[in-house]
Amino acid sequence: MERRLPPVRAITFGSVCLALLISMPWLGWWPLPILAGVVFCVFMTDRHLASYRQPEYRVLIVWLLSVAAIGYASLQTEGLRSPLTPWFAIPAVALAVRFRLRGVITGIALTAAVLATMTISTPVARPVHLPTSAWLAADITLVISTVGYTMTLLYVDLQNRDRALVDPLTGMLNRHALQLRLTELAQQARFNSTPISFVVGDVDHFKQINDTYGHELGDRALESVGATLRAHLRAYDLAYRLGGEEFLIVLPGTDRKGALFVAERLRSAVAAIPSFPTTLTMSFGVGSARGDRFDYRDLLRRTDEALYCAKASGRNCVISEEDAALLARVHHQQEVATQSASTS
Ligand code: GH3
Ligand code: MG
Ligand code: MG
Repeated sequence: MERRLPPVRAITFGSVCLALLISMPWLGWWPLPILAGVVFCVFMTDRHLASYRQPEYRVLIVWLLSVAAIGYASLQTEGLRSPLTPWFAIPAVALAVRFRLRGVITGIALTAAVLATMTISTPVARPVHLPTSAWLAADITLVISTVGYTMTLLYVDLQNRDRALVDPLTGMLNRHALQLRLTELAQQARFNSTPISFVVGDVDHFKQINDTYGHELGDRALESVGATLRAHLRAYDLAYRLGGEEFLIVLPGTDRKGALFVAERLRSAVAAIPSFPTTLTMSFGVGSARGDRFDYRDLLRRTDEALYCAKASGRNCVISEEDAALLARVHHQQEVATQSASTS
């Protein structure tokens, strides 16, 4: 937010200055030094904001100064009927951008108090009859600055929402985004009676890559993996970073055979990533469910088991849940056979 405010403030002060210049033949030059004083205080506060122990109080003081400046300028013209009075909306909107509810309520109360004081004070100067062009400039200033501040709020809000759902390193959706999508996925699969498949992929020996080449190269490897996975998926397939170097691909409408094909395509694409000092490989587990039997936790558990099996089978391979179950049975039978051979 602090990075996006200076340009909006510059536009606001610029249009205020322009409106005052347009009105100068009728208003006189006296508002300009007041504006210069406010701009100076805002600029100095911004510059030293990081060094203040309680920056919010400094910001509030400068904010009060701008309200007092508008109040003074309005009183110097026609009080509540002054073309400058609507400008009280500008610091009010700016306040909403920077402060929480308590600060906003305090600011509104102070603005109301200044406006109330103006109703009982007599305007200092004789009435000024501004031409339409000056009123127009004052109104346009108000529109420009309030739209500027509102757009800043909107932009920052959208950015925060994006950050809450997207992993900043790989640009992939995160676990939180997955949770939000699950109910919809389950309903869709049930309604269409279509299968749904999960592919869970995990980078092989990633700790070793970090340890050997450093965390930074590790991060670059994850970026490349994310980009490669996304590039080899269809537009409606969903790719999530579950955490660390583990990724989940959700394939709505795809059965086990199709999911195995996708996983194999992803495995070979990752193994072909160039320009790393070491070859990157990934192991994949594949699980599928019928639309009417889709249970996220159960499918993820089965797919995870298939991934562990892929790791145990030597890595850089794709294993389906059925193959994992078969291998587990064979392993179990071998253990039983070894035990009975040693006891007999
Ligand atoms: P395996 O083949 O069995 O998966 O072995 P592995 O070394 O990949 O797995 P392990 O779980 O032992 O190590 C994962 C490593 O990933 C450990 C952790 O420090 C690293 N890691 C997790 N998140 C990040 C990240 O965002 N950036 C980097 N550079 N490393 C990460
Ligand atoms: Mg790993
Ligand atoms: Mg892992």
